Amino acid sequence: MLVAINLTDRASEPFAEKPFPGTAQMYQPPPRPMSHSGPATRCRICHQPLPQGTSDVCDRPPCQTRLKAEAAAEIARRKKKKDAAWLEMSTRRTRPVLRQAAREVGAQSLAHVAHALAPYIDLPLRPLPEDRRAAFVDHLTEIIDAAFATADGISALPELPEDDPDYTTRLAHETPEPFVLNAACIACQGDCCTLGGGRHAFLTEETITYQRWRDPEVTKETLTERYLSAFPEVSVIGSCVYHGPQGCTLDRPLRANICNSFQCRSRRELADAVARRPGTGAVVAGLSRNHADDPSAGAPYLRVVSVSPTDEVTVHDHLRLPALRKGMPED
Ligand code: SF4
Ligand code: SF4
Repeated sequence: MLVAINLTDRASEPFAEKPFPGTAQMYQPPPRPMSHSGPATRCRICHQPLPQGTSDVCDRPPCQTRLKAEAAAEIARRKKKKDAAWLEMSTRRTRPVLRQAAREVGAQSLAHVAHALAPYIDLPLRPLPEDRRAAFVDHLTEIIDAAFATADGISALPELPEDDPDYTTRLAHETPEPFVLNAACIACQGDCCTLGGGRHAFLTEETITYQRWRDPEVTKETLTERYLSAFPEVSVIGSCVYHGPQGCTLDRPLRANICNSFQCRSRRELADAVARRPGTGAVVAGLSRNHADDPSAGAPYLRVVSVSPTDEVTVHDHLRLPALRKGMPED
């Protein structure tokens, strides 16, 4: 059972979701209809006279601000449209494999089991390069020193971190999430953890302060050892130093708050699906963002996972993507 692949189970800002391919191009304003009466003579926003040969919006700051807001709205509209088209295409392509997985776990049909799409990454595993290890050790030393400098534990005790009240409230009071939601993370294999690669596992001085608050006797050396001994033998290339083949190797209480609270959109959608069909388990298709690059049957961009109502995990490795007959619409 791949429970340990419970990578991040979850959400907030540093784990900003990545755009789907092709959705972040530079904004090109749409062509304006030709005026039969020649070039505009008045600003279309403030209606003040325009200098000759300029665009249809004048240089006054309020008009330029409005122009920028229009451009931002247009970018957002296009992205939303593209995301919706990607989702429609991906749902269509994965439907047969989700149906098959549902049958394999004994569901009468897909309508009788919670199901969802998730991201999917398939990156190679490597021993952590020495320069990355050294950079992580430097960072860890820095945040541990900073936390101990703020409160040495002798003349001043570490206090509850205050700038994120949820940090402690959540850890003390949250109810565990249903295990079935891990189907998304197991299918995905930790897309969000790749962002932890450049962020030193999101560990900060506050994380260390929290560790010290939990265990006021803990020494710098013990804390350093706890973090350094948790490295996996091999980790996902370029990803978080703790992103191993079975998921995160850092004990949950040692992780940064975000690693215990992040939920990507896919996981949230699975939670909604589970709420609509409680007790049915779940089937999830992890799908690469760029799956349409290879429209042929069997394209290697898929990992289907099911979790039974009794929390049994099955990775449906034999299921393959069908051919993609209709891709994304043209712009
Ligand atoms: S499904 Fe979402 S929360 Fe889970 S590992 Fe993937 S990106 Fe992270
Ligand atoms: S510590 Fe790293 S591998 Fe573990 S949940 Fe956080 S980002 Fe992912």
